[in-house]
Amino acid sequence: MDILQQADPEVFAAIAGERVRQQVGLEMIASENYTSPAVMAAQGSCLTNKYAEGYPGKRYYGGCEFVDVVEKLAIDRVKQLFGGDHANVQPHSGAQANMAVFLAALQPGDTIMGLDLAHGGHLTHGMRLNFSGKYFKVVSYGVRKDDHRIDFDDLVAKAREHKPKLVIAGASAYPRTLEFSKFAEVCAEVGAPLMVDMAHISGLVAAKEHPDPVPHAAFVTSTTHKTLRGPRGGFILCKQEWADKINSAVFPGVQGGPLMHVIAAKAVAFAEALKPEFKQYAQQVLANAKVLAAELQAAGFPVVSGGTDTHLMLIDVTAKGSTGKLAEHALDAAGITVNKNMIPFDPRKPLDPSGIRLGTPALTTRGMKEPEMKQIARWITDVLTASGDAAVTARVKGAVLELSKQFPAPSESAAGGR
Ligand code: PLP
Repeated sequence: MDILQQADPEVFAAIAGERVRQQVGLEMIASENYTSPAVMAAQGSCLTNKYAEGYPGKRYYGGCEFVDVVEKLAIDRVKQLFGGDHANVQPHSGAQANMAVFLAALQPGDTIMGLDLAHGGHLTHGMRLNFSGKYFKVVSYGVRKDDHRIDFDDLVAKAREHKPKLVIAGASAYPRTLEFSKFAEVCAEVGAPLMVDMAHISGLVAAKEHPDPVPHAAFVTSTTHKTLRGPRGGFILCKQEWADKINSAVFPGVQGGPLMHVIAAKAVAFAEALKPEFKQYAQQVLANAKVLAAELQAAGFPVVSGGTDTHLMLIDVTAKGSTGKLAEHALDAAGITVNKNMIPFDPRKPLDPSGIRLGTPALTTRGMKEPEMKQIARWITDVLTASGDAAVTARVKGAVLELSKQFPAPSESAAGGR
């Protein structure tokens, strides 16, 4: 019998249920992915037992000789992957990576500029209830109404007027290429450092399938678990002049002991992303997203910005008489997991917006390609035009299960776990 099953049947059962859910459905949440069995093995290791406040060679605890090796490997690999003068791999999450940059570069009350949450930005880029919105003056920029691309005229005008102390480029729901050189020009003009939050696209950047932010930005932050396909976590790259401030902003600034088991899993994921297969993976993520967006557009769903250059897309489901909330539920019932999402200039509210966000990173990890994307677009169309018809839901759910069997998801059982 499984050790966990014996020790804690309730937690065991919930994990078993989640494992099945990940195997039998189509995971299309743009920020999710399946890590490799090796990543899960590192994360599930004895390193979870170790305290290691400080940095390699300068710890506040004894017994750090092995975790030092792990953290150095993670640092070396992330720098090999992305370049950059200095790397900090300790942030527990993307939000904490961003918080550390704010702590290093800003004083409370300073002005920051970021993409409006309602136009695709992230909570940590100035949302009212987030630390970024509570302790800083926020001037948001947006996308243009006609083509849903970042409105640089608006951004430049606001930067000249408000003289921000930090400009943030990066997004959670922006399907187009981010033009980092344009952001850098604005920053140079107003004398503000540029922070690029590449959380969503870091796997594409690693594979050189998206322009590189590192030469343009004082700080680059990221999560490790989206397109980069690592464990849940974050990291920061920065120019040398900021290295000491970033290190002390992460620890002791916003965190205590680093999660060494997660850092080990990050190191494994960075090594995986350095392999040639990862480039092929990122190319397929993009090819799949393009096909999916084109098929959904052809089926009558307006696609925000008319398509995608990345792993994600936003579609307006109100055109078919649905809403974001209804669409999320209807697709969930058919075994397709997505999230409701505001679209730019959305007349509806965040809890029931006009759109859904779809992404291809997880399905691509399972080996799906263009033909499967075409099939999935037809199922999505069927479900969202059937207004909850139980027979359609059941038919699509059955077909999703069949497809899932053909493209099994990586599971920790392959690593000798449960
Ligand atoms: N930055 C961006 C652009 C994101 O999309 C996200 C997560 O969705 C984050 C930061 C925060 O990451 P985490 O959930 O790890 O705190």
